[in-house]
Amino acid sequence: MIHEQRLVETFLELARIDSPSGDEQALAEHVAARLRALGAKTQIDAMFNVSAFLPGRGVKSGTKPLFLNAHLDNVAPARGIQPVVAGGQIASDGTTVLGADDLAGVAAILEGVTALLESDKKVLPLEIAFTTQEELGLVGAKGLDLGNFSAKEGVVFDGGGPVGAIILASPTHNLLEIIIKGKASHSARPAGSINALKIAAQAIAKTKLGQLDRDSTANFGIVRAGQARNVVPDKAEIVGEVRSRNTRKLEQHTRAIKQVFEKTARGTGAKLEFRVTRAYNRYEFKKNDRVIQRVAKALKQIGRAPRYEMTMGGSDANVWNAKGIKTAVVSVGYEQIHTTSEYLPIAELVKAAELVQALATA
Ligand SMILES: [Zn+2]
Repeated sequence: MIHEQRLVETFLELARIDSPSGDEQALAEHVAARLRALGAKTQIDAMFNVSAFLPGRGVKSGTKPLFLNAHLDNVAPARGIQPVVAGGQIASDGTTVLGADDLAGVAAILEGVTALLESDKKVLPLEIAFTTQEELGLVGAKGLDLGNFSAKEGVVFDGGGPVGAIILASPTHNLLEIIIKGKASHSARPAGSINALKIAAQAIAKTKLGQLDRDSTANFGIVRAGQARNVVPDKAEIVGEVRSRNTRKLEQHTRAIKQVFEKTARGTGAKLEFRVTRAYNRYEFKKNDRVIQRVAKALKQIGRAPRYEMTMGGSDANVWNAKGIKTAVVSVGYEQIHTTSEYLPIAELVKAAELVQALATA
């Protein structure tokens, strides 16, 4: 049985330990101790990712372990979180995020496994990863050595909305860094100068942004240029991105943006640098894939109908899927994440822990 009061206490305890991205050591040590107390072998790596290995109970030797994952880091403002319990939900005091993204996932895993071990049910061998710097670009997951892991299937507890969602597809994501180098001069003696900002503006105006097709989006989020009102800007920098659930379309859209900038810069004397970095790769499941059916079955067991969703975001699941663990993302109940209005209905947190328990039993 999930112990609601204990689960809420666990969540509050986690939320009160500062764990902004890149500074997760204290929380990593806390959760590692919790996992050791459950009988798990634990490791903390140089990035403070926590790995934990729990033997199965009442299952045949050689039973494949199940992989469970949530991330430890919180987006800013995340120092000094004071969680407030009221009206059946948990929120921050309004000055920080709550950190339910993704401490709801961490707490659900801790309580789900604890409750399962207290029961007389069979327990699958479990391989748990609590990762760091997820919000900075899945950094901890990318760095985690999976050499000690043997699970082939897993579940990431890091999705929004009521428990029941299963993410079937996530895009590939390209990061763009575009630099235009012109030539500076005094604004009142512009002869021979090359205005990098003007070239950037012309190219931006000609670029298709927003929803490009059913599977693809593009955005320019930052433009930096210029140093003073009376200096012709010699450098303009644009930071953007392209995402698509279809890799061919992603490459086409990325190339099209590059061509707009090349064409615009041509003949102006400006130099163009166009850098593309792959943030993460796509994955896609069908409803009848084994890991999806496994999650759907567990959801039905806890009285929730599966909702199949697609996302335009990435999560640690993109890394696990690329590294060979078939991993589905499920919702854990949090709402309005990455804002100071973030909140978590306690009933959903309980359901998330029930889902952990249902998945981890044989
Ligand atoms: Zn998250």
